[in-house]
Amino acid sequence: WCPMSIDSFAELALSPRLQQPLRELGYAAPTPIQASAIPVILAGRDLMAGAQTGTGKTAAFVLPLLEQLLQQPQAEPRPIRALVLVPTRELATQVNAALQGVAEALGLRTLTLCGGVPQEQQQAELALGPQLLVATPGRLRDLLAQRRLGLSNLRTLVLDEADRLLEMGFWPDIQWLLNAMPTERQTLLFSATLPLELESLAIDLLTNPI
Ligand code: AMP
Repeated sequence: WCPMSIDSFAELALSPRLQQPLRELGYAAPTPIQASAIPVILAGRDLMAGAQTGTGKTAAFVLPLLEQLLQQPQAEPRPIRALVLVPTRELATQVNAALQGVAEALGLRTLTLCGGVPQEQQQAELALGPQLLVATPGRLRDLLAQRRLGLSNLRTLVLDEADRLLEMGFWPDIQWLLNAMPTERQTLLFSATLPLELESLAIDLLTNPI
């Protein structure tokens, strides 16, 4: 799929409220993965994207996720609407770092759930009603099994570094987590490589993807 040439953020359908933090971050123009992925995600389509770390792939899904959250009514209590699954704690921290400042400025709440952090602390943070979670599959599965949170209002699922999620043996956890989510949702898969096994798993996971 070839995007039309997009060389400024103003050409992407992102609210002015999102454009301002981009200027503050010093992002002058979208990177190729951002120019390709953001319109597809905003259109509500499922997506399979090939992108290495360093290409701006995090903002390629973070920006449209924040845009979608801004468009939703801010009902209380706020349900979890978006989930980003990542293979490692380091990546979770990195994704959250890219997200948190902008999200907070927009009045949106995010939370990182991964191993190595006391569960009590994460439970207290869950009680504050995050709309967007960044999580490793194992810790999220534990918290769901203990009914500490629910994913029945989830709208968008992102698998970041899907090839590493597969390599690291997380697929059974992911299958388990899928059963706790609505089948009607938007699913986005980002991966640096596309091994055959991942391609066949993605066929089940994605609906008519771009
Ligand atoms: P990532 O590929 O998501 O790990 O991003 C790599 C780096 O590129 C991060 O430090 C981002 O802050 C930066 N970045 C992402 N998008 C842009 C952009 N449009 N312009 C300049 N820097 C960017």
